[in-house]
Amino acid sequence: MSASTTPKYRPETRLVQSGILRSQFGETSEALFLTQGYVYDNSAQAEARFKGEDPGYQYSRFANPTVHMFERRIAEFEGAEAARALSTGMAAVTLAMMGQVRAGDHIVASKAIFGSCLYVMEEYLPRFGVSSTIVDGNNLDAWRAAMRPNTKTCFLETPTNPNLEVLDIAEIAKIAHAAGATLVVDNVFSTPLWQSPLELGADCVVYSTTKHIDGQGRCLGGVVLGSQKFIMDNCHQFIRQTGPSMSPFNAWVMLKGLETLPVRVRQQSDSAGKVAEALAHHPKVSRLIYPGRPDHPQAHIVKKQMRGGSTLVAFEVKGGKKSAFAFQDALKLIRISNNLGDAKSLITHPATTTHQRITQQQRDELGISDGMVRLSCGLEHADDIIDDLTQALAKA
Ligand SMILES: *Cc1c(COP(=O)(O)O)cnc(C)c1O
Repeated sequence: MSASTTPKYRPETRLVQSGILRSQFGETSEALFLTQGYVYDNSAQAEARFKGEDPGYQYSRFANPTVHMFERRIAEFEGAEAARALSTGMAAVTLAMMGQVRAGDHIVASKAIFGSCLYVMEEYLPRFGVSSTIVDGNNLDAWRAAMRPNTKTCFLETPTNPNLEVLDIAEIAKIAHAAGATLVVDNVFSTPLWQSPLELGADCVVYSTTKHIDGQGRCLGGVVLGSQKFIMDNCHQFIRQTGPSMSPFNAWVMLKGLETLPVRVRQQSDSAGKVAEALAHHPKVSRLIYPGRPDHPQAHIVKKQMRGGSTLVAFEVKGGKKSAFAFQDALKLIRISNNLGDAKSLITHPATTTHQRITQQQRDELGISDGMVRLSCGLEHADDIIDDLTQALAKA
């Protein structure tokens, strides 16, 4: 059985039709192969399978048909030669970095990245003799200055969490490559629909599929994508031997999630744009950041590298923490949660949740003020989301 490929079709079609491994029963919907292992017809076949001479599966830590379908489908959509699915987004980020380095190497990462990613770069990798430099992502000179002869790879996230700052992937890729390093991009916030880092020069893209790819708040997952060489050299053995594999059940959820990704992300981004429009000049909002707006601080970069805005909006409620809390607590439809990319609209106050562990100075540097909230727009009607925000702002 070989997975269906659909390169001649448009992206939305690929998300529904690529990667299907149809069994002898001819099922319409992709089957969930909930199995740990596989049986062989005879001893010789088992031997050949282990020698890599007989195509087929051996053990689900290495590969599984449902996981394979998910990997093929997302790889085709992303325009990547290869993909590997992982148990969580953090497993994907850790693999993408750890798989490339050894003691004595150096990495460079932008400072506005997901908290656990920063922990891996700053705390965990150095324990194994891999030094790191953290730079202000929009300062290209800082990237250039950080490169060393032993710099192996660079890592960035754009748009950033929670301030939706946009970094120039193409320019940073050039700097990395000139220094003989690779570039890994965490593309969670823009989703594969709005931004293609590989086309812009990145060597590897990572996702927490927990977010928009599942899209309905159910399962955790992650994926790394890149050239066949990148995946084989840096990821393949690491997953096989250390085991951060995605479960077939979660892969099935993610596979089905991909089918509706464009419909959901378009709708959610459209709502986020409407929310931004409604709140940009609201008397109780002192600052609003949305990558789809002309007043976005990096609007010129958004224009050249993104095909759409974002499902997220960040804004600052006047009056600091007290007002932000009063506003969040007055919401009736939108729920308080640190998650994002869900069908349900979710809001978070980064200064006291996702970014509470870092110092006040670090928060100031990242522009995370006490009044700042981050809204992840769901699939509810945009007018209901806006009505809820406006009635709650009146109470802030
Ligand atoms: C959520 C997230 C992660 C981590 O993903 P998990 O699936 O929670 O492990 C990494 N990067 C970004 C940008 C995220 O939003």
